[in-house]
Amino acid sequence: MSIQPANGSAGVLVFSEHPDVAVELLGIGRALADAAGVELVALHAGEPLRQRAEDAVARGADEVRVLAPAQAERLGADGYLEALWQTVQERRPATVLVGSTRTGVEVAARLAQRLGVGCATDCIALEPGADGTLVVERRVFGGHFVARQVVHSAPAIATVPPKRFEAPPRDDARAGRIHEATLQLPAPRLRTIAVEERARSAVDISKAPVIVAVGRGLKRREDLALVEALAEVLGATLAGSRPVTDDLKWLPPDRKVGLSGQTVRPALYVACGISGQIEHVVGMRSARTVVAINTDPKAPIHGEADYSIVGDLYEIVPPLVAACRGARERQAVATLEALG
Ligand code: FAD
Repeated sequence: MSIQPANGSAGVLVFSEHPDVAVELLGIGRALADAAGVELVALHAGEPLRQRAEDAVARGADEVRVLAPAQAERLGADGYLEALWQTVQERRPATVLVGSTRTGVEVAARLAQRLGVGCATDCIALEPGADGTLVVERRVFGGHFVARQVVHSAPAIATVPPKRFEAPPRDDARAGRIHEATLQLPAPRLRTIAVEERARSAVDISKAPVIVAVGRGLKRREDLALVEALAEVLGATLAGSRPVTDDLKWLPPDRKVGLSGQTVRPALYVACGISGQIEHVVGMRSARTVVAINTDPKAPIHGEADYSIVGDLYEIVPPLVAACRGARERQAVATLEALG
C-alpha cells in the first residue's frame, strides 16, 4: 500500500529513539520543511518527554508527538514502528527521516515495507527535488563514490547517519504544538528480563574534541606509550583502528573509530600508522582538521588529511611531543608573566 500525502497537509516527519540524533534530525528536517513550505513534525519517545518535546519546538519542530510515558518505556523496534506507522497515517507526511541507529534502520526499513515504498539509507545530503521528490546523496561502492538519487515514492523514507548534521540552535521564542499520543501497541513479542549496562571506558570518544588515533603501524603494545604521550600533550583522547581494538585488544572496543565502531567529529584528528581504509574513514571524515602520519605516501589516509607527514611514527612522534610540550611550557610562562 502506498500512502499519498493529503493536499496541503504533507509535512516532514522526523524520528530517532536516540536523543542526540533526534535533535540532529530537526535541523535537516526544518530545512526540508522550509524549502517545501510544510510543517515539521517530530515523534518523541524518550524521557523526559515534556522537556525533550519543548526542546524540539525550540529547535524547529512545528508539532511534537510524545508517547505516553508508560508506553514510551516499553517501546522497542516493534513499538517505534507502530508509533511511526500511526503518525504517518494521521499526518500523511511527504518525507520521513529516521536516524540511522541500529534500531532506526530496522524501523525505517520495516515502515517502508509496510507502506510499499522504498527506503534510502544513510543519506549524507538531502534536498527537495522537482514535483515533491526528495533528492539524496549516499555513499556507494564501499564509500568510493557518492550517488545522487531521486526518491519518487510518497512518503519518501530516508535514514540519516548520526552526527552528519549539526543540531540546530534553540530559539526559545518559537511556538509549536505538543500532543501526547496514545498508541494501539501490539502485544510485545519480546520480554526484557534484565538490563545490564555494557562495560565502557570512562571516556566517550564520540564527544572528544581532540583525538590521537593509532593503527597497525604500531608494532608492539608497549609502544602505545608513544602515542599516549602525544595524546597527553595535545589534551587528546586515544582511539584506534579495528586491528588495534578488536584483533590485538590493545585498546577497549569502544575506542574503535569507523564503520563498526564510533563516528567521531573532533576539531583535530591525528592518525598515527593508520592506512585509511574506507571502513575507518567513514568514522572520522567529519573531523575538522586531520593530520596523518604514515610511512606509505600512497596510503589512502593522506587523501583525507589536511596535513600529511610521510614518515615513521617512531621517528616523528617523539620530536612532535617534545615540540608540543615546549610550546605548551612557553605559553604557560607567557601567561604567568602576563599575570605579573
Ligand atoms: P593497516 O591497514 O594494516 O595499515 C597500517 C598502516 O600503517 C599502513 O598504511 C602502513 O603504511 C602504516 N605504517 C606501518 N608502519 C608504520 C610506521 N612505523 N609509521 C607510520 N606508519 C606506519 N576498521 C576500522 O578502523 N574501524 C572500523 O569500524 C572497521 N569496521 C570494519 C567493518 C567491516 C565489515 C570490515 C570488513 C572491516 C572493518 N574495518 C574497520 C577494518 C578495515 O577494513 C581495515 O582493515 C582497518 O581499518 C585497517 O587498520 P589499520 O589502518 O590500523 O591497519
